[in-house]
Amino acid sequence: MNQVKRYPVCFVGAGPGDPELITLKGRRLLDEADIVVYAGSLVNVDLVRNIKAECFDSAGLDLPEFMKILVNGYYEGKKVVRLHTGDPAIYGAIREQMQWLDKEHIPCELIPGVSSAFAAAAALKKELTVPEVTQTVILTRQAGRTPVPEKESLRNLASIGASMCIFLSVAMIETVIEELTCGGYPADTPIAVVEKASWPEEIIVQGTLADIAAKVRESAIRKTAMIVVGPALDLTSTIASKLYDTSFRHEYR
Ligand code: SAH
Repeated sequence: MNQVKRYPVCFVGAGPGDPELITLKGRRLLDEADIVVYAGSLVNVDLVRNIKAECFDSAGLDLPEFMKILVNGYYEGKKVVRLHTGDPAIYGAIREQMQWLDKEHIPCELIPGVSSAFAAAAALKKELTVPEVTQTVILTRQAGRTPVPEKESLRNLASIGASMCIFLSVAMIETVIEELTCGGYPADTPIAVVEKASWPEEIIVQGTLADIAAKVRESAIRKTAMIVVGPALDLTSTIASKLYDTSFRHEYR
């Protein structure tokens, strides 16, 4: 009997916007795909232009509608890609999609991508971990329509004093600043907002906790922005990493 060859559904990280910031594997899977369902509100459509696959924008579809496209494609033996912005593991809502596939016994694979957190750090030309300043990066968000567990409120996280990349929150910038300040970051803590990092229309606004809300309001920044905050953004710290210190062992360089 003729068995249809079937391919795992691939969740691919599209990267933050610049089409060159997708992995080689992600690019290959897109080029070989028969069906691509992409999150059109954030994914750069240049990534899916001129490919042979039939493409669907999930922006106008609800979960059952686009899951049907993925599931039917799988059973027809098609190569199916679900394209997510940045890295699929961060605020991608892929969990419910994978659970859906799992119930149907459909295998899937995840291909990581460059998260907008790191595209924002690159736009700012900053290292988020600085020796003796902070060795921790927190990826988080302000509570909005999606609640955040109280233990992880910005106020509580701020008390750690680490570097923070705050997603999905620029529309609530005043609340974010209040939370960060109440949590213990001094008012002169450096903070930056990057809208559409790595896109041609990228906007960067930099300041301190004391003045950033006003600067953002005066700017054209509205959404799709990353807030990056913490003492590591202050380049005046002169403590150097031991990694390139002449007395340090070299095996991790
Ligand atoms: N999985 C994505 C995040 C999706 S949630 C990732 O890893 O980047 C959507 C949020 O991500 C936006 O509200 C914004 O905070 C951030 N974001 C996505 N693309 C961005 C970009 N190019 N520049 C700045 N922030 C971006």
